[in-house]
Amino acid sequence: MRFLVTAGPTREWIDPVRYISNASSGRMGYEVARQALRRNHTVVLISGPTNLRSPRGVQTVSVETALQMHSAVLRHLPDVDALVMTAAVADFRPARRSSRKIRRKSSLTLRLLPNPDILADAAKIKRPHQVFVGFALEDSINATENALRKLKAKRLDLVVLNTEQTIGAERSAFVLITKEGGIQRLECTKRALAARIVRFVEETIGRDTT
Ligand code: C5P
Repeated sequence: MRFLVTAGPTREWIDPVRYISNASSGRMGYEVARQALRRNHTVVLISGPTNLRSPRGVQTVSVETALQMHSAVLRHLPDVDALVMTAAVADFRPARRSSRKIRRKSSLTLRLLPNPDILADAAKIKRPHQVFVGFALEDSINATENALRKLKAKRLDLVVLNTEQTIGAERSAFVLITKEGGIQRLECTKRALAARIVRFVEETIGRDTT
């Protein structure tokens, strides 16, 4: 099967030296890429800036901004069976990027514009055989209602609910919610969760084609 995986944060430039971003390490997406590869799948990994080494055998596309990630995902989407969207896409970007470093002054107001919702746009062109997996970072691991809303709005087959504690961590608590309404609570490493996600995709595609 062909997997399209996104990972890491995006950077939204304010001027040549400053940007808005978040604390995503990218580890979750790189683990999914590695586990999919281990199971002999083809993987395209679209990665924001991280300190991680791209797994050998994976086609890695490096991007910086949400807009770049958006066009890379939409470009590769028609060729894949599964989209696993682990990237922590910045919700906003500066309305303009200053071509010069902004000088120190007594106050600075930045106007921010919303970034496109990549998954929501991917959902508009989702093909029936394709499987989508998304993440929902919520304040509480019990926020299953919000996660379910995301699953429906973004036409996900599986949503993984997690909290801020997951950021940068090796292991964490997760809730897996399927579009059929199945709920599974897990406490495990990101590697184990990645393997679980890859198996979910295999089973879903296997079930749909039989
Ligand atoms: O709605 P929320 O941003 O919490 O949804 C999280 C899911 O949507 C994640 O899978 C994330 O990768 C994806 N996302 C996206 N484009 C955005 C924001 C989030 O694809 N601009």
